[in-house]
Amino acid sequence: MENCIFCKIIAGEIPSKKVYEDEDMLVFHDISPQAKVHCLCVPKSHFATLAEMDEVQANQLKRCFEKIPAIAKDLGLENGYRLIINQGQDAGQTVFHLHIHILGGQKMGEKML
Ligand code: AMP
Ligand code: ZN
Repeated sequence: MENCIFCKIIAGEIPSKKVYEDEDMLVFHDISPQAKVHCLCVPKSHFATLAEMDEVQANQLKRCFEKIPAIAKDLGLENGYRLIINQGQDAGQTVFHLHIHILGGQKMGEKML
């Protein structure tokens, strides 16, 4: 997808601090961390929100969720972590390529969830 920053990161055109990669997903550190550990799990297929997702993409997203526990373990998040997927403007989505925030490494605040 042209002009999508996450597609460019997946293509290697923009550098990232890579944590994990396979044929379905790329996981890298967020450039502006909101917790001690803050990574993004990005399905390699481009779709902006769940509302746009087709069945193939849904299966890819499923494999992301299946893999996240092992990735979280490698990141040292044995005490738990928080996953967030922002959907659209009101949620504060800024990059319109669906991604899962993985947040942890500290006790997460209780204000939002
Ligand atoms: P969202 O607001 O849910 O769309 O999240 C987008 C996230 O992408 C934000 O947390 C940004 O800090 C992060 N981000 C934007 N550009 C980059 C980049 N080049 N490398 C890593 N993370 C990025
Ligand atoms: Zn994209």
